[in-house]
Amino acid sequence: MRARDREILLRLNKEVVWLFVTGSVVVATLVVLFLLRTPPSYYEYDGFTLGTYCRIYVSSEKINPKSLAEMLFTELDRIYKKYNANDPESVLSKINVSQDWVDLDEETFVLLDAALKFSNMTEGAFDPTLGNLIHLWGFDQLDEQDVRVPDSSEIEVALLHTGYKNILLDRQKRRAKLLNGIHIDLGGIAKGYALDRVYQIAKEVDPDCTGFVEAGGDIRIIGPKFGSRSWVIGIRDPDDTNECVGYLYLDSGAVATSGDYERYFIVNGVRYHHILDPQTGYPARGIKSATVVASTAVTADALSTAAFVLGGKNWEYVVLDFPKSGGHVLLVDKDRNIRKSPSLSVYEADR
Ligand code: ADP
Ligand code: MG
Repeated sequence: MRARDREILLRLNKEVVWLFVTGSVVVATLVVLFLLRTPPSYYEYDGFTLGTYCRIYVSSEKINPKSLAEMLFTELDRIYKKYNANDPESVLSKINVSQDWVDLDEETFVLLDAALKFSNMTEGAFDPTLGNLIHLWGFDQLDEQDVRVPDSSEIEVALLHTGYKNILLDRQKRRAKLLNGIHIDLGGIAKGYALDRVYQIAKEVDPDCTGFVEAGGDIRIIGPKFGSRSWVIGIRDPDDTNECVGYLYLDSGAVATSGDYERYFIVNGVRYHHILDPQTGYPARGIKSATVVASTAVTADALSTAAFVLGGKNWEYVVLDFPKSGGHVLLVDKDRNIRKSPSLSVYEADR
């Protein structure tokens, strides 16, 4: 090999080595930067509204997460005030006291329409017209002293003034009329509705924001953790606050639980809780908790209340049929048996 050729070869080798070294440095730097990148930070806002503790946990790169959380809490509170049957000034109270047709704003019409859809779907197990019964039991009162077991004659009378078929909705004129002295109570669906509204607002402000909102154990996912991971949600053991009977992995959608431990009182060793069987007027028996996963919180909320009522009578129907309406169910019955929709398994594994 001539000296000139050797020189060219040497120079080429040097260039290859140089390229390799700088390439490696660039790749290593990128890897280190990737590993050191700061995950989006979450802001937690805790507050009391909708008659329960609420938690907003959000992250956004477009808006200060604290401002976003405050905005979302304001929306939860707006809905609570609008549909609080105990506040004589609320939109709901105005409907409840009227004996005639009442003109409705669009939001209220849509919400009542949705509530009736769930009543029809569950053959009345979910019933938004139990206001008189709930008042009789005292479950609408904030003061624990005001609850009591009514006489059976009182329950019979109150039952005459319930029933979802007594809500007339006039779609054309967007108005409602209540028959037979019924009173609407949206306690089984308002939280879910509020959580869905909060989701919508969060996404309007920043389509890429992530996190979740929780109201008294009902959860609406806003977006996956750090943009890609599932949130892990424990399903509380109804007999032990600190234990879970299972875990769910959700990166979207919602989950709601109705439990006999949420609001109750005990008389002569019998537990009386706040989810009533619309057929009997007494607390629904047979189930300790009903959890429902669905794509929206309104569905999860309404169906969890219905699953609680129906689960003690026909759990097979609940776990097998509710998924057809978009609700995947986990029931814990009075003997601690766990009954699940087969479709729930999708949410029991971290994908
Ligand atoms: P929680 O509010 O504890 O999450 P639910 O979503 O099941 O539980 O809602 C229970 C509330 O719904 C009660 O406090 C009452 O206001 C109302 N409610 C009770 N029984 C029924 C029923 N069968 N259908 C619809 N709403 C109900
Ligand atoms: Mg509910």
